[in-house]
Amino acid sequence: MKITAIETHVCHARMRNWIFVKVLTDQPGLWGWGEATLEWHTRAVVGAIEDISHLLVGEDPRRVEHLWQMMYRQHFWHGNGIVRGTAISGIDLSLWDIVGKALGVPCHQLWGGPVRDYVRLYCHLGGGRMEDFYETAPDDAKRFADLARQAVADGFTAFKSMAVPETMPLEGLKPVRYAEACVAAMREAVGDGIDIMVDCHARPSPAMGMRFARAMEPYGLYFFEEPCWPESIDSIADIQRAVGTPIATGERLISQHAFRELLEKRACRVLQPDITHCGGLSEARRIAAMAEAYRVALAPHNPQGPVSTAASLELGFATPSYIICESVHGDVPWRADVVSEGFTVEKEGRLVRPSSRPGLGVEIDEAEVKKHPFEQEVLQRTFYPDGSVGDW
Ligand SMILES: [Mg+2]
Repeated sequence: MKITAIETHVCHARMRNWIFVKVLTDQPGLWGWGEATLEWHTRAVVGAIEDISHLLVGEDPRRVEHLWQMMYRQHFWHGNGIVRGTAISGIDLSLWDIVGKALGVPCHQLWGGPVRDYVRLYCHLGGGRMEDFYETAPDDAKRFADLARQAVADGFTAFKSMAVPETMPLEGLKPVRYAEACVAAMREAVGDGIDIMVDCHARPSPAMGMRFARAMEPYGLYFFEEPCWPESIDSIADIQRAVGTPIATGERLISQHAFRELLEKRACRVLQPDITHCGGLSEARRIAAMAEAYRVALAPHNPQGPVSTAASLELGFATPSYIICESVHGDVPWRADVVSEGFTVEKEGRLVRPSSRPGLGVEIDEAEVKKHPFEQEVLQRTFYPDGSVGDW
């Protein structure tokens, strides 16, 4: 069996351009789907996949680990930057899909079979509708509570919010009180039986991240995400040591080496590798094995498209430390039109039952994808009140 070509199919989905990767083989009807979505870097990733494809065409797609080593280590530059890491990830997902299809089993069967009966989904407030999740004003506690109630009415038992405002490296009490009010309103709205997560988007400085994390303590968050820059691993570790709330981080980190440092420094209780950035399912499984050794939970980052979700679920069904799957369902109304999925979701509780289809169990409708060609993503820029550059 040989790889004959690697294609990219770009599908504009408002906030993101989904980049679907299709690895074609010389076997009639056998191909693999992957995803390499990277907001605001679509053309760069498509180009990186084209560059890497010269290494792989003519090779046996079932030698996934061997090809992963080639993609990561050959052509001199290691694949640990975000663009190349995302390109490698998209191809790696496609290769696993091919292996599963060639053997007639779902990917989770390749990795030892199911370790659980279902995977729980969590949503973003607003279901991933860009305006609800990112643009609800941090002083609008009532709106946060309304969206929280809606998530529960939609069947979710866990949801994520962005209740921490953008702040300069040091600010006073006002933004901390805003965040507290929003989280208190959400807790009041949904009760103690629902899991609430707060994502800081790594906006705060270490000092502000510490203040927000301490303020969140009474509300029993399921986890508190990216309290400061991913480069500041020591500061994330300081925050984790100071609070009982589990700290989550990792969505911007590439490769096992970055995650090893997080674990060695006991910086967090939840690892969030993004399967479409960190080095694909191959690298995510190595990261999961390290997390297992430290008894740290795994909750992969997954706000992208449907192949990313299918890959995250396949990993979840084969990985004991996997706790929950991030999901987006309201980003574009035609999401279900571009994909056919093998798994099923129970509306009550948003529990996913495993796919029995081979590989990742997804098929992309290329004609539907063509209806949504590339468009430049909406600019998301932040400046502080004094005009200096902030973190979005
Ligand atoms: Mg995040």
